[in-house]
Amino acid sequence: MEIKIQDISKDLSKIKKYVHTLEEENIKLKGELARQILGGEGELVSAGAAFTNPEDEGMARLTRLYEQGFHVCNLNFGAKRNDQCLFCAALLQRTGGD
Ligand SMILES: [Zn+2]
Repeated sequence: MEIKIQDISKDLSKIKKYVHTLEEENIKLKGELARQILGGEGELVSAGAAFTNPEDEGMARLTRLYEQGFHVCNLNFGAKRNDQCLFCAALLQRTGGD
């Protein structure tokens, strides 16, 4: 019985390391995604051809992402959103400006 617990403990520390690696990768990928959406570069550009202004297109994509229940603000970009977020709202309100 003790041996099994030790095995499980070893597995658990492996899993913890793995999770840590995944978290770091996730953060990198979120940053990459943010750059692609906000910068209007990369493969995501072809997604919505309805908008002629690249800035409008980027904002439309952010709005869509927000409506799907994700943060689009710098603080929590890409994280699941359970409530309204002031930072996201402030970001999206700039759509109609200028
Ligand atoms: Zn937010």
